[in-house]
This record gives sequence, structure tokens and C-alpha cells, in this order.
Amino acid sequence: MNIGFIGLGNMGKGMALNLVKAKHEVKVYDINPDAVNYLNSNGCTGCKDIANTVSNVDIVISMLPEGSHVSEVYLSKNGVIESANNNTLLIECSTIDVETIKNVGEVAYNNKMKIIDAPVSGGIVGADNGTLTFMVGGKKDSFNKAYPILNNMGKNVIHAGELGAGLAVKICNNMILGATMILLGESFTMAKKLGLDQKKFFDISSKATGMSWAMLNHLPVANIIETSAANNGFKPGFAADMMLKDLSLAQSAATSVGIKTPIGMEALNMYKKFVRQGNGSLDYSAIIKLIEDNS
Ligand code: NAD
Repeated sequence: MNIGFIGLGNMGKGMALNLVKAKHEVKVYDINPDAVNYLNSNGCTGCKDIANTVSNVDIVISMLPEGSHVSEVYLSKNGVIESANNNTLLIECSTIDVETIKNVGEVAYNNKMKIIDAPVSGGIVGADNGTLTFMVGGKKDSFNKAYPILNNMGKNVIHAGELGAGLAVKICNNMILGATMILLGESFTMAKKLGLDQKKFFDISSKATGMSWAMLNHLPVANIIETSAANNGFKPGFAADMMLKDLSLAQSAATSVGIKTPIGMEALNMYKKFVRQGNGSLDYSAIIKLIEDNS
């Protein structure tokens, strides 16, 4: 397939390289020329703007920081919708608000294009290794067309519902992850204060009802599991800045449907405080420091 890929950061770089590995022709663009040059030297065709990247391709994929970037890339003059052919399938993979993808979707449909939201879970390791989980929203025929391409970049590709449903899943999922990480920080700090060996607590709780994906994979305590960011001074992984963004998206989503999520709100407030203290570029599991400092 001919693919145009926009946004070659931590996640997009590995995803684009996996498409090359799967023998697709991949044109790439990023506002950072170093990122474009790197991929140009590794099997992609570097482009100087969005219009060149998306013209005459079957599929456009984007992996951008926030909703404002997505609106700009898709809707601005010489942006994706103005420059791509009719019938192009647009695959938007960033973690953004549901409203933005619906707005972009409306313009895309008016221009006879197909569009899905396909946010991911699995982090940089998943992007590099092609083991991401894709949560997809959009029409079933668009999902079916996207499936083999997403499969080249991930190991789970799941249809969640109409456009925006993938993002709704992602936002709800990450509210669980953020709150769980805070509870892990609290319980491991408390276990230590109660005189327990933290490794012993892990060995037992990971086989009891306290066990969670975050405990098994992102434990905020060093030297117990291999994949813990705490082993490397909390080098991300998944940055606290990103978790703050996702928890903010969760609160906007909760407000938009008129429900209260007090635990999600408290998680947002704690990450806000932690990031304000200058810790935004640490791994999100470093939130345990906030709990230790207040103990
Ligand atoms: P990143 O900041 O490393 O990469 C984003 C890239 O987009 C950058 O290279 C930037 O230069 C480029 N960009 C920004 N504006 C642009 C524009 N107008 N035109 C072209 N390129 C532009 O971010 P990332 O870590 O790759 O994350 C991307 C998305 O994936 C985010 O929405 C994030 O929430 C989500 N996500 C990240 C992770 C993770 O572990 N990093 C995990 C799951 C989901």
C-alpha cells in the first residue's frame, strides 16, 4: 500500500518503520526535519510538507501530540483533507478528545474520505516492536480496510464502535491506569512504613486480589520487576506529562456526559501537582515520590 505518515516522534517513528518492514511504500512528514531525515535514511520517503505526504496515497496515518495539532494537520489550508485524494482512508492514532475527531470526521465525510480513530496502548516499546493495542472507532468497512495495516504495527486491533469510540475507550482505560498507579504508590509506601519488605509484599499481592497490569508491568518500586521505570531513575516510558493530558481528557469527557468521577478527579489533581513541581518528563510511575514526600 502507499501510505502517508505524519508525526514521527517517540511513537510514530517505530510505527512508520514497522510499515516499511511490512513492505509498504511510506511517505513521511514531521515539523522536525531531523525526524524526517532519520526515517528517510531508513526506508521511508521524507517529504517537505503535508500536501506531498498525503497526495496519491491509499492511507494517511497521523500520530500527533494533542487535538490542536490534529485539527491543524487535517483542516488547515494544504492540510490532509485539502490535499489527499477522495476515498483515502484516514487513520488518526493520537490520544485526543472525542470532539476533535468528530469535527475532523465530519469534514472528511463531506470530502468523500473514510476516517477512523485508532488510539494505542503499549508505549514506545510497543511502537518499536509492533505490539501495540489499537482501539478503533469508525465504520466497519473502514475498520476492515485498516485492519491489516494496523496489524503490521500492533498485536491487538479491536473495533470499539462508531467514530470516537476508540478514543472513548482509551480515555476510560487511562483513567483506570492513572488512578491505579497512584494506589500502587500509596500501598507500597504504606507497606514499607508498616515494616514489610516491598519485594515480599509484591510477591504476595501480585498473587492476590491487589494484582493489576500496572503492578506486574510498571511497578513504581525499583529492583523487583525487570520492566519497572524505577530501575532507571524513572526515565519514561510513558511520561507524567502524558498521563496528566489523559486524565484531563477524562475529566472533560466526564463533564461532557454529566457524570462525576471523584477518583479520576483526584488522580488528575495529584498528577497536576506532580507536574507543576517540574516532574512532567519523568515516567508516570514516579508519582510515588509525591506520596513518599507527603508521608
Ligand atoms: P511526540 O511528542 O514524541 O511526537 C509527536 C510528533 O508530532 C513530534 O515529532 C512533533 O514534531 C510532531 N508534530 C507536532 N505538530 C506537528 C505538525 N503540525 N505537523 C507534523 N508533525 C507535527 O509524542 P509521542 O510520544 O509520539 O505521542 C504521540 C501521541 O501518542 C500522543 O497523542 C500520545 O498521547 C499518544 N501516546 C503516547 C504513548 C507514549 O508512551 N509515548 C503511548 C500511547 C499513546
